[in-house]
Amino acid sequence: MKLLIIGAGIMGLSVAWAMARRGHDVTVVEQAAIPNPLGSSVDQHRLIRYAYGDMAGYAAMVGEAFPAWDRVWQDLGESLYIQTGTLAVGTAGQDWLNASAEVLKSQGHAIEMLTPNDLSWRFPLLTPDRVDHAFYLKTGGTLLAGRIIELLSHHLALRGVTLMPHQRVVSVDPDGASLRLEDGRNLQADRLIVAAGPWVRQLLPGPADRVVPSRQVVAYLTPPADEAAEWAHMPMVLEIEPDRGFYLVPPVAGTGLKVSDHSFSMTGDPDTDRDAGEEETRALFQSCANRLASFDRFSLDVGKVCFYTVHPPAERFVVEPIGSSAWLMTGFSGHGFKFGPLLGEAVADALEDRRDGAEITRWAAGYLDTRAD
Ligand SMILES: Cc1cc2nc3c(=O)[nH]c(=O)nc-3n(C[C@H](O)[C@H](O)[C@H](O)COP(=O)(O)OP(=O)(O)OC[C@H]3O[C@@H](n4cnc5c(N)ncnc54)[C@H](O)[C@@H]3O)c2cc1C
Repeated sequence: MKLLIIGAGIMGLSVAWAMARRGHDVTVVEQAAIPNPLGSSVDQHRLIRYAYGDMAGYAAMVGEAFPAWDRVWQDLGESLYIQTGTLAVGTAGQDWLNASAEVLKSQGHAIEMLTPNDLSWRFPLLTPDRVDHAFYLKTGGTLLAGRIIELLSHHLALRGVTLMPHQRVVSVDPDGASLRLEDGRNLQADRLIVAAGPWVRQLLPGPADRVVPSRQVVAYLTPPADEAAEWAHMPMVLEIEPDRGFYLVPPVAGTGLKVSDHSFSMTGDPDTDRDAGEEETRALFQSCANRLASFDRFSLDVGKVCFYTVHPPAERFVVEPIGSSAWLMTGFSGHGFKFGPLLGEAVADALEDRRDGAEITRWAAGYLDTRAD
């Protein structure tokens, strides 16, 4: 089969990987460099964690995502995953933490519930300020995202996939599996994948109108020198509240310590709104004051902007056929990276008619029951 893929982020490259492994003729068209530093997939790290609030379908999918990543590591010849463990902390009555704990227990995970005292004792780099309860899970960790995109694209080129960087697609025909490039050329294949990240609405108004680009700020911090070694062995920290979605990524494998707020801005243009302002970056830094025991000795390195592509209200992925010859992959709502290879294999199954497309769409949307409504 001849396959055209728009977008060399984790989704486009994952479908390319799965299809190239099965012997298909694959071309990936990317508007920027590969890796594209402005793409949603290109930053030092992305988390993979089982804790998913009440979204039991996604928690279950994480168990399938790990073996899919193992198949990627096998092909790349090295693993770009660092297990850190997962620490979820919550203030009184936090639904997300309680729902996560319930789902994890029901799916057979051994979670360790922690009191604020336990938290201070086990993780003295954190303060238990306002913490009502917490849990620790030894699984979960960091995917070295930028490096993954870099190595995966090299691997695909060696495997015979045609990569076309700096080629912007200006229109697509999902029925004819064809696209038009900015320079006027047309490309055609048997099937087409649109995995255009936060730019998707420009390319596919109509089918992609459901999703919203969302400008998100992240901050990289430097811990005090005497704590640096300890921080590199800390778990990820998740503190998801109704009005705030704080998370902390520990500095593993030479990466920086990153903090952010998962709450969606639901604004911004991925081409122009790229600079993190001093004030918003400092506010994000300041939001760590009640969680980092040595906050006063931390320094703020840099703020960065990255775009989510949000599918409101439930943050469910949109992985579905469009027209007679194409698939749309969007709406990853700030939690898609961990599922890239798993979704790539699922879409490859659909393209080869090995698995029912409607079932894949519901499964990718995080439903445990994948039968149609
Ligand atoms: C700050 C931040 C933190 C995140 N944290 C996590 C996390 O911890 N765990 C997790 O699982 N996920 C996380 N995510 C989400 C995850 O990174 C995304 O869901 C995922 O990277 C989306 O990949 P993608 O391939 O759909 O999009 P992208 O990586 O954006 O790739 C799309 C590509 O398509 C190209 N393109 C677009 N339009 C065109 C066109 N017209 N012609 C040619 N090329 C085009 C773009 O240039 C781009 O390179 C996070 C995202 C952000 C921003």
